[in-house]
Amino acid sequence: MTEHEVKPQVKIISKPQNILRTVYTACRTCYSADSPININNCENAQDKEKALNLIKKVVSSGHYSTIEHVQISFAISGISRACSHQLVRHRLMSFSQKSQRYVKEKEQFDYIVPPTILKQPELYEKYQQFMQETTKLYLEMTENGIPAEDARYLLPNAAATSMVASLNLREMIHLANLRLCTRAQSEIRTLVKMMCDELVSTEPWLKEYLSPKCEKAGFCDEDKSCGRKPKKEELINGRND
Ligand SMILES: Cc1cc2nc3c(=O)[nH]c(=O)nc-3n(C[C@H](O)[C@H](O)[C@H](O)COP(=O)(O)OP(=O)(O)OC[C@H]3O[C@@H](n4cnc5c(N)ncnc54)[C@H](O)[C@@H]3O)c2cc1C
Repeated sequence: MTEHEVKPQVKIISKPQNILRTVYTACRTCYSADSPININNCENAQDKEKALNLIKKVVSSGHYSTIEHVQISFAISGISRACSHQLVRHRLMSFSQKSQRYVKEKEQFDYIVPPTILKQPELYEKYQQFMQETTKLYLEMTENGIPAEDARYLLPNAAATSMVASLNLREMIHLANLRLCTRAQSEIRTLVKMMCDELVSTEPWLKEYLSPKCEKAGFCDEDKSCGRKPKKEELINGRND
C-alpha cells in the first residue's frame, strides 16, 4: 500500500450533549399533561430506564417524529467518489463535499483500493499503474492550462474525497438499516458502521436501533439473502403450514 491508497476516517464534529433526554422529552410530551420543560429531566438511573422503555415503545410503534430532533454532523475522509455517490443518494442528509473544481490535484491523487483487487497481486499492480498514468495525464492537462474542473473528468470513481455529512437521528437509523445490510457494497457498509460506532461510543443505548433492516423487521426482504434472518416468504409459508 502506498501513502496515496487511503482508508476511511470518521469523526463526529457536532451532536447534542443530551440526546437521550431530548428524545425522551419528545416522546413523553405526546402523552403528558405536563410541560416539556418539566419533562426534560431523566438524569438518575431509574429515570434513564423509564426513558429507554418509553422510547423503545414509541419508536417501535412508528412514531418517528420523536427521533427527528437530534442532529449529528460527521467529518468523513478517505472514501471513494463511488462511495460518496451512494451516500449522497440519502436525500434527508446534508453534505458539503471537497470540490474537484476548486481543489486542484498537485501530485498523485489519493484513491481507494477495494479489498477484492488488493487480494489479486497482478491486477492490483495494474490498478496502481492506472492511477499513476491517470495522474500523469491530469497533471499534463492542468499544467497546460486546462482548468481543474475539466481535467477532473479523467479522475476515476476510486478517487478519494472528503465531506461533512449531517443528518438527524431518524435518518441515521434509516441509513444504518439500509447500509449495514450485507447487500450494501463493502465500502459504504464499512463507512456507515464507523459512523454508527462513533455515535454508539458515547450513546450506547442507540446500538439496538443502528442495525441492518432485517434486525428491525425480523425477516429479510432482499432477493439474495445472507441468511442472517429468514426470508419473508419463508416466514409466511411457515405460518401457513
Ligand atoms: C443495497 C442497495 C442497492 C442499491 N442499488 C441501487 C441501484 O442499483 N440504482 C440506484 O439508482 N439506486 C440504488 N440504491 C439506492 C436506493 O435506491 C436509494 O436511493 C437509497 O438507498 C436512498 O434510500 P431512501 O430513498 O430510502 O433514503 P433517503 O433518501 O435517505 O430518504 C429517507 C426516506 O424518506 C422518504 N423519502 C425521501 N424522499 C422521498 C420522496 N421523494 N418521495 C417519497 N418519500 C421520500 C422515504 O421514506 C425514504 O425511505 C441502492 C441502495 C441500496 C441500499
